Amino acid sequence: MAENRDNAKVFFVGTGPGDPELITVRGMNLLKTADLVIYAGSLVREKVLGYCESSPEIRNSASMSLGEITSLMVEAVRAGKKVVRLHTGDPSLYGALREQADVLEKEGVAYEVVPGVSSAFASAAALKRELTLPGVTQTVIFTRVEGRTPVPEKERLSLLAAHGATICIFLSVAMMDEVVRELSAGYPQDTPVAVVYRASWEDESVVKGTLSDIAKKVAEAGINRQAMIIVGQAIGDNPGENSKLYDAGFSHGYRE
Ligand code: SAH
Repeated sequence: MAENRDNAKVFFVGTGPGDPELITVRGMNLLKTADLVIYAGSLVREKVLGYCESSPEIRNSASMSLGEITSLMVEAVRAGKKVVRLHTGDPSLYGALREQADVLEKEGVAYEVVPGVSSAFASAAALKRELTLPGVTQTVIFTRVEGRTPVPEKERLSLLAAHGATICIFLSVAMMDEVVRELSAGYPQDTPVAVVYRASWEDESVVKGTLSDIAKKVAEAGINRQAMIIVGQAIGDNPGENSKLYDAGFSHGYRE
């Protein structure tokens, strides 16, 4: 079964947030048997390349254009090769996956997407917090502020803030002042905010504060890249309510 699944194809593999142990077993097995591995040198930690066992050709996509990357993949698959395209975290979030996949579809080249642990989840783990806390919020928003990639007007942080949900903000720690200004339109100043730098790496660090002081703390810590901003009451010290799932007075399918 696995044999058939793993014929010449492109596999977009999420490598997780940084710790090489946080790639999936499937992702690791694909790396073991890959013929060509394409990775973005600046983002994907070279450590996961240590899983390669079949001496694949390894290409760094950092200096390549979309056309160069997709041509490389198309030619390799047509030559019967197994291609692994590495993405950080999970490929479905800020991964430029779609533009590559669209070319492969147009060229009739088979591909598969293998999920990974997003840095949003590694950051929640570093905080030891649940993002959906009963009695507090049941919603998580993944977003970013505008950089070179525009963000639709209706998704401004100031508008998202109105919901009081947990918000995970990618790609934005260099714009901390703007993030705080926008969030302040919807959240009280004492709302908990955490910034997790390099979640799951050896040098992971966490800065915790509130909307009123987080920008200053992050500047003092010198963090301006590779960090996740998480905002909302769920990550604070308010315990919320216990879940119904383990509530002795609440029956469900597995427990009368
Ligand atoms: N697909 C990736 C996100 C790529 S965008 C994922 O699912 O995690 C890159 C952004 O992700 C960075 O700007 C940062 O906000 C976040 N990021 C990536 N790795 C991180 C890590 N180890 N710790 C904290 N944030 C990280």
